[in-house]
Amino acid sequence: MQATLTKPKSGNKDAFVSKFMQDLTAKNPGEKEFHQAVQEVVESLVPVLERHPEFKKAKILDRIVEPERAILFRVPWMDDKGEIHIQKGYRVEFNSAIGPYKGGLRFHPSVNIGILKFLGFEQVFKNSLTTLPMGGGKGGCDFDPKGKSDAEVMRFCQSFMSELFRHIGPNTDVPAGDIGVGGREIGFLFGQYKKLTNRFDSVLTGKGLNWGGSLIRPEATGYGCVYFAAEALATRGESFKGKKVAVSGSGNVAQYAVEKVNQLGGKAVTMSDSNGYIVDEDGINPEKLAYVMELKNVKRGRIKEYVSKFPKAQYHDGTGVWNVKVDVALPCATQNELNGKDAETLIKNGCICVAEGANMPSTPEAVEVFVHKKILYGPGKAANAGGVATSGLEMSQNAIRMNWSREEVDRHLHNIMKSIHKTCVDTAKEYGQPDNYVMGANIGGFLKVATSMMDQGLV
Ligand code: NDP
Repeated sequence: MQATLTKPKSGNKDAFVSKFMQDLTAKNPGEKEFHQAVQEVVESLVPVLERHPEFKKAKILDRIVEPERAILFRVPWMDDKGEIHIQKGYRVEFNSAIGPYKGGLRFHPSVNIGILKFLGFEQVFKNSLTTLPMGGGKGGCDFDPKGKSDAEVMRFCQSFMSELFRHIGPNTDVPAGDIGVGGREIGFLFGQYKKLTNRFDSVLTGKGLNWGGSLIRPEATGYGCVYFAAEALATRGESFKGKKVAVSGSGNVAQYAVEKVNQLGGKAVTMSDSNGYIVDEDGINPEKLAYVMELKNVKRGRIKEYVSKFPKAQYHDGTGVWNVKVDVALPCATQNELNGKDAETLIKNGCICVAEGANMPSTPEAVEVFVHKKILYGPGKAANAGGVATSGLEMSQNAIRMNWSREEVDRHLHNIMKSIHKTCVDTAKEYGQPDNYVMGANIGGFLKVATSMMDQGLV
């Protein structure tokens, strides 16, 4: 999916952003999603650069948009019929000023260097917001796990790791899952890493519980997104109780967002996949959610099948999920899945809060609508940081060779989401734009990384 960049407006600030974006676009041609992610951040940072001329002098902004390292590699694998396929593998090690590179791997046919640079760039700010010592990175491959046998996925993962292993390590770069990379893939990747290195390291997160994984890691991104939304709602005396909620996606993040909405007394009424969406006005209760989890995680089927099992629900082809009348929207599928028109429709229908489980699911036009209309809008780098935060907690548990209980990890996660929310609110207020979570998240995430880069000299 594509989005257009917002047009530069008049004034000094806009002239600066415009010039910066022109240079960035010329240096990184064709990387639309990366340009989009950078533009949003740079627009927020103008007042910071005015307050901190030392950042300008040290060219922190020019340095922070350039990955420290990007690796591109061949991934050959053989399917069950003996046919050979060649994919493109990547790891973008974006910024290590505050800790080892940390960020997921995405396996999806749409993966290219521009998408991974946008994700890696966002990850730098997100990881900084978590309060944990993690730098930012992202990787992946244009491999499509859909319709592949377990044996094919295993051979592919082994081939992918046969190159990746030499670039990662528990104190260097620690990948995790993302779209198309769940527990099954992390298992195959870890097995191959261990075979090649003869080390049982905390080199990947999202591991199985029997071999170093953390309780609550699978739930963390979805739960964290709902915790963030609950904090935002509370600022206006609201809660999830009795609220109707639209969730997009039906993968890892969407599933646990629905679970937490139910637990907090809300009613999730939609889920989707890349073909279409279901609307269940009675609510996707725990029994129905268990069906979705089995359908998506085990049978690897399509969301359409939901209505055969629960015939009172409706299925629609396409991307109209944001036309459903709801109080809260949680986009949890993919980038640019919610455009300006969708944003207008949501608000017209009474939606008061949007929290992003996915990375950059709202187009710049949609963000502009949310910010302008002053609804509670939690951008992904803040609202979905619970996943990587819990990955950080998995690394801590591995380091001390201990496993924390479910309650303990959930308590840490909840506190981290509260702290991220507070950073966004306090920072936005400090910079004169209370309620602007975009500004709060971008500046809050940037300051710690920028200061650390200054401390570490020109590297
Ligand atoms: P999954 O692969 O588990 O699920 C992805 C979901 O999004 C599926 O329902 C998928 O549908 C749908 N989807 C994927 N691509 C598209 C597309 N082009 N158009 C419409 N729908 C699409 O991934 P996750 O749940 O892990 O990730 C979802 C989002 O959350 C991503 O943006 C990811 O970067 C972000 N995220 C994930 C974290 C994690 O911990 N997993 C952490 C932070 C952010 P289909 O089955 O048809 O492909």
